Amino acid sequence: MALRIYNTLTREKEEFTPISGKDVGLYTCGPTVYNYPHIGNYRAYIFSDMLKRYLKYKDYNVNHIMNITDIDDKTIRQSQVEHKSLKEFTEFYTEAFFHDRDLLNIIPADTYTKATDYIPQMIKMIETLLDKGYAYKTQDGSVYFDIHKDKEYGKLSHFKLEDLKENAGGRLKKDEYEKDNAEDFALWKSWDESDGDVFWNTSLGKGRPGWHIECSAMSIDKLGESFDVHTGGVDNMFPHHENEIAQSECATGKSFVKYWMHNEHLLVDGHKMSKSMGNFYILKDLIDKNFDPISFRLWVYASHYVSKANFTFESLNSNQIALNKIKEFYLDLGKEMGIINDNYKNLFIEAMDDDLNTPKGLAVLWELIKDKELSNKDKKATILDFDKVFGFGLSNLEKEIIPIEIETLAKERLLARENKEWQKSDTIRDQIKSLGYEIKDLGNDYKISKI
Ligand SMILES: [Zn+2]
Repeated sequence: MALRIYNTLTREKEEFTPISGKDVGLYTCGPTVYNYPHIGNYRAYIFSDMLKRYLKYKDYNVNHIMNITDIDDKTIRQSQVEHKSLKEFTEFYTEAFFHDRDLLNIIPADTYTKATDYIPQMIKMIETLLDKGYAYKTQDGSVYFDIHKDKEYGKLSHFKLEDLKENAGGRLKKDEYEKDNAEDFALWKSWDESDGDVFWNTSLGKGRPGWHIECSAMSIDKLGESFDVHTGGVDNMFPHHENEIAQSECATGKSFVKYWMHNEHLLVDGHKMSKSMGNFYILKDLIDKNFDPISFRLWVYASHYVSKANFTFESLNSNQIALNKIKEFYLDLGKEMGIINDNYKNLFIEAMDDDLNTPKGLAVLWELIKDKELSNKDKKATILDFDKVFGFGLSNLEKEIIPIEIETLAKERLLARENKEWQKSDTIRDQIKSLGYEIKDLGNDYKISKI
């Protein structure tokens, strides 16, 4: 069976065929680290995680790249408000993002690219665009992309430049703007006082990159000039992704991305999430209300990614109850492992092959749970197989929970053994024992269990 996905570029459901056999290059627009990501951002990251998991399930080799935007208008402005260096400020929120990621059981990307590590690649691309006549320098030393030179500009978000006569010839130095003000956008922003100590001295002069060029330079550096899939929230489609396509394709002369995939908005109580409306939530708000972060994963799957989803605490609560049921049911299946049931597996693949239809995929899981004929051991094997895609982390439920303190001691002891510090290793073993745990050596590894 073939996977079919909705490609925003063609506005059609297409059969998924990577550029090169079973290898898939996947790029996801990651967080701008000036704040804690909100639950709408996490809908996008859970979507790309589920996509990656399903591609792996279908035996594709996925190389997943996610950027960390640690230089843009917002990071500069907010670091100044907090009187911190840009690096110190953005590192704090990068760590906060990684912490949430792990709580949500999102598989880490193969590489996280920080924008500030890729300035030379951005400069190179901007210089190519200047050489080819797609970009121009202004008096203040900034460089802009001339959208009228790109005959295909607008092909992703489907609008025509002729409709924008009023603004024609204008320029926007801001990173973010609405479709109505499509104007030439900044590739390189010359330094001004509001940037403070944030600047690079380059062949383009003293300044910093615009936001859009970051993703083009990093994705091409890691995945090549043409790659398979680019994901992001629908709010990134314009201007960000439109501009990524324009810069990349004009610079390389090649088609940039084969499949563009966008998840729809997350609404809260029927409205766009906003701080002023009082309906703005980050993951910690859910945890503070005693929800398991994984219940949010289940909530995300309850809607197809191409549909808007309305978040309410009532709906999250239903998903928390459902998750508890799945977990209890799984644990009641016992220890014995059977074989994956082909019938259910085929139904699951049929649902997921249809543009990653998670509501249908979940329906297959519930059907399996309610099946009276199938043995517990076969149910167990089949549920674990589905969980490779869902990522509820069911296989971890049976593992004995070892306190972090004991794990840390065990890791220290392993290091001591590697360094042949036998006495230190014995002391740590005694310490672990006094805390009620036993450690067994297994070659270069160990196993901890309660005494
Ligand atoms: Zn991006």
